Amino acid sequence: MTQQDQITSPNPELTTDQIVAVLSQHGYRTTGPRQTVIAEVLRYHKPFTAEQVVADLRVREPSLGRATVYRTLEILASVDVLTRLLQPDGHSAYVVGVPGHRHHLICSQCGIAVAFTQCPMGELVTSLTRDTDYEIQGHMIEVFGVCPTCQAA
Ligand SMILES: [Zn+2]
Ligand SMILES: [Zn+2]
Repeated sequence: MTQQDQITSPNPELTTDQIVAVLSQHGYRTTGPRQTVIAEVLRYHKPFTAEQVVADLRVREPSLGRATVYRTLEILASVDVLTRLLQPDGHSAYVVGVPGHRHHLICSQCGIAVAFTQCPMGELVTSLTRDTDYEIQGHMIEVFGVCPTCQAA
């Protein structure tokens, strides 16, 4: 395996079976069409959009409706298997990952995203809550950079 392959290998830490198990924990049945969408999202090496999934599946699974794709992606996002992130161009995209609090480092040249679980927000949330009396519900942090492969190119 070349270094390029390692960097771009599709989410080896998550399988279709694991995602089906997460859905089942949340009370969702995994129908055939949903399974097709799950298999599709696991193929992406980079953050992807719902429109991309629709377009890619239209070729291989013409019977699969656009609404099913959108609904399945929404469900996957709601159980935290998909995260919405902001790309360097400002457009949002989905990325697959193990459920749990995480952020992403995104290459501004090739678009490949690396997830990290370290979160610097804890103390800030505490002091913001104290100073503003807001009930803090969440935050988004994206980190942009140039990956080693793009630096070498
Ligand atoms: Zn890159
Ligand atoms: Zn965080």
